[in-house]
Amino acid sequence: MLTEQAALERVLAGVTPLPPIAQPLTSSLLGCFAGRAVHASVPLPGFDNSSMDGYAVHAADTRSDTPLTVVGEQPAGPSLNLTLPFGAAIRIFTGAPVPAGADAVIMQEDVDLKTSPSGPRIVCREPVELDENIRGAGSDLCMGQKLLEAGTALTPMVLGVLASQGLREIWVHPPAKVAVVTTGDELVPPGLPLQPGQLYNSNGLMLESLVRQVSSTEVHSQHLPDNLAATTTALDKLIANHDFLILSGGVSVGDHDCIKPALQALGHPAEFWRVKVKPGKPLLYVQAKRPDGGLCHIFGLPGNPVSSFVTFLLFVRPALLKAMGAAGKHLSLPIVSATLSTPLSNGGDRPHYVRGFYENGVFTPLGIQQSHALFGLSRANALLRMEADEVLNEGDSIGQVLLVS
Ligand code: AMP
Ligand code: MG
Repeated sequence: MLTEQAALERVLAGVTPLPPIAQPLTSSLLGCFAGRAVHASVPLPGFDNSSMDGYAVHAADTRSDTPLTVVGEQPAGPSLNLTLPFGAAIRIFTGAPVPAGADAVIMQEDVDLKTSPSGPRIVCREPVELDENIRGAGSDLCMGQKLLEAGTALTPMVLGVLASQGLREIWVHPPAKVAVVTTGDELVPPGLPLQPGQLYNSNGLMLESLVRQVSSTEVHSQHLPDNLAATTTALDKLIANHDFLILSGGVSVGDHDCIKPALQALGHPAEFWRVKVKPGKPLLYVQAKRPDGGLCHIFGLPGNPVSSFVTFLLFVRPALLKAMGAAGKHLSLPIVSATLSTPLSNGGDRPHYVRGFYENGVFTPLGIQQSHALFGLSRANALLRMEADEVLNEGDSIGQVLLVS
């Protein structure tokens, strides 16, 4: 049985980023990854401009009490190409281009405004320094400077700086084509009454949502009965049209677990089946060649809800992210250290991911720690990774708390 690390390495070794395509620069790119580096074609700021409402001046003129005649006005907007004579001031507003000759802006709060027959005049109460209240052209970002590397996550901030460049399109890795397929004759869709022995399908929505947290991609959803012929036919079609198939249930050793036999019948052998992890041991991973020559990554997640959740985060999430062009730290969940609120032991021979709540540096386990316990999971925001045979006491420092929400 593979360790988690070995299993993840196998998966990632087979995933290549989807080739970048040019896409309109819109908020729907949120969560995508840049496909090419971008260099600044517009410096920031683009021109010297005022950071205050006030008066553009010669800084030296503000050191005397001599009134300065206000000879013009430059609002934010197109430059009026004004030039500031010595001994004068030009009314200016935040974001407006600084008139030629001016080397500072004095805030309107720091002047006394007087009227005179020759027009308004100001007397400066405070002297200003050279360049004071002027945002220099290129002081934030120079022309030609690298703005981002290929593989950068397109966050709202990054999309903002790309918009500042006036770009209509950028190169991004496209979202992967993903299908979430649940299996099981005992499962019922919402709205129908439950018969004895039945339960509602909760993994479908949870897994779709986990995919959506990683990528804004549309997710195809489907449910399959525990029937080998139906499963084989459906998987064959799904493989042809998807980069990722995320299957829930049907990967254990029961007589009604059809996923492995169906994939075998289609000629897609397992890369691995079973991983040393709790919950989630029966995880199945298959790389299926598509008729178009592409690769479909198939993850058979164990059906118990916590097993599906944990194996998605440990194996599917990094693979999806790599396909979308992410690299390095973007592939893993944030990990924090914490203090444990209560004693815990892992009597098993596999690392155990304990569900709990992380707050103010303290991790508190939540609910029953069994793989079917969905309610406890629903209140958790973190997973504590415990080694096999590890025993922890209250107050112990723990270094492996994965933040999952
Ligand atoms: P399996 O992996 O198919 O053997 O399923 C293991 C357990 O998970 C069984 O108790 C199933 O009823 C349950 N289960 C499987 N799929 C789902 C699902 N989509 N939603 C909720 N529970 C499920
Ligand atoms: Mg099943």
